[in-house]
Amino acid sequence: MDLKDLYRDVIVDHNRNPRNFRAMPDADRHAEGFNPLCGDEISLFVDVRDGIVDDVRIAAQGCSISQSSASMMSVAIKGKALDEVRDIAREFKSMMSIHETTIGGDGTEAGDGAEPEPVDEKRLGDLAALQGVVKFPPRIKCATLAWITLTQGLDELAER
Ligand code: ZN
Repeated sequence: MDLKDLYRDVIVDHNRNPRNFRAMPDADRHAEGFNPLCGDEISLFVDVRDGIVDDVRIAAQGCSISQSSASMMSVAIKGKALDEVRDIAREFKSMMSIHETTIGGDGTEAGDGAEPEPVDEKRLGDLAALQGVVKFPPRIKCATLAWITLTQGLDELAER
């Protein structure tokens, strides 16, 4: 396992050319996220019309994983119904969760045979490229920051 597995082309591309990166101060909903482990920061701006994510903008500073993940997220959720956005967020977070067998590593047990859920690459699109991050546990928070921020923003929106 080397870093090439982590920085796949699609991740590098989103990092170099982040999508929807521009502050939108007049957005319906604004959420902030911070990952103290790495220093990643994100501001998320979302406009919702008739239960659909009409527009999403991001202002972010941080490592390439956090930036790429935020960029991919903006592409994945734009134009989607809120229910679907929540489904994708759930699926992404479950893809990024650490499985016991992954962090074990003493090699004496092959695990109980519990395999991670297969990822729906069609649904997640470019986001599936971030699956390799799971093998680098300190970076998982970098990849999930944008999604945690999004979920919090949506929850606040729902309470209005
Ligand atoms: Zn980071």
